Amino acid sequence: MYENLIVYLRCPLCKSNLTFARYEKEPVPQNRHDNITGIFSCNCGMIYPIIKNIPRLLPESFLDYEALIKKHIPGYQSMKKTIMEKYGFLILASKKSNESVKKTFGFEWSLLKQKEVNVWNLTDEEFKQQLWDELKIPDQEFKNMIIADIGCGHGRSGSLIADKSLLAFCTDVGLSIEQAAAQNNRKNCFFLQADLHNLPFPDYFFDFVYCSGVLHHTPNTEIAFNKVANVVNGKGIYCVWLYHPFNNIVHKAMLALRKVTIYIPIKLQFWLYMIFLLPFHKLISTLKGKPKGWREIMINQLDMLSPKYRYEHEPEEVTTWYKKDGFSEIEVTTNNSYGFSIKGRRNKII
Ligand SMILES: [Zn+2]
Repeated sequence: MYENLIVYLRCPLCKSNLTFARYEKEPVPQNRHDNITGIFSCNCGMIYPIIKNIPRLLPESFLDYEALIKKHIPGYQSMKKTIMEKYGFLILASKKSNESVKKTFGFEWSLLKQKEVNVWNLTDEEFKQQLWDELKIPDQEFKNMIIADIGCGHGRSGSLIADKSLLAFCTDVGLSIEQAAAQNNRKNCFFLQADLHNLPFPDYFFDFVYCSGVLHHTPNTEIAFNKVANVVNGKGIYCVWLYHPFNNIVHKAMLALRKVTIYIPIKLQFWLYMIFLLPFHKLISTLKGKPKGWREIMINQLDMLSPKYRYEHEPEEVTTWYKKDGFSEIEVTTNNSYGFSIKGRRNKII
């Protein structure tokens, strides 16, 4: 199966097909996927490593994993020189812009080391129910779909949708993708390290694309929305979850605090919140009769205070983005204190 995956992938920079420059397969007992190590190459000169069974398809991946590539590709230095002459500006811009996301969200999701840790204070059953409420798509419709979860984080949503679909791809920009892949091992679900601004898929490819809690953490939410919309096919469904403005004094205080916290190194943030904020939140959750574990509380705090970008939008504004991109049947499916999910079906390619 893994060998066949390559037909669905594209070079994120030039959108051409990829080929294997190197490929090693090692069967792993009791694992649904063999362990693949290798390197993809593109006619444009780009190379992308596959490490721990996960294709690393960021423009800057060959720099991130340079030591490993050097060992396997003879003449790497001259190859690197050619790539940098052609794409150097794009690659360095991507590396710079992804740096803080890799650090903050990579650290945040590393707290989910144990599978039983709840995300967003929801039990497994509540988490599933919330997801199906957001999607509002009958199982029958999912059956033949090729789907993507863009910015999959912990990977739980993408793999749950994969259980209902034909084939699924989950992407994330940071190293949390390794943990997501390890904790959500399914035969029809593939995890890739990729950036939503340079997705490694053909345009207009997916039947369903889910992108939850991601777009508002990019420099421009609408631009990110459009980039992801580009991989939704002519009749495909696109569902996103975004923050909306929240008129609450604690929330406003946290937004004010962000003006400082986004500049503090992530590990120092962790310890500051552990000492000064966590005991307060733990007490509140206990008084409310729903005590939370420290990992759950810390994930919530880091999600609020650590990302460099955090924008809030109204459903009406997002509806106009859908319309401009040729989507109809636009519907807000859930709307709670912090945000809303909204979906639309593409009816024309613009
Ligand atoms: Zn290329």
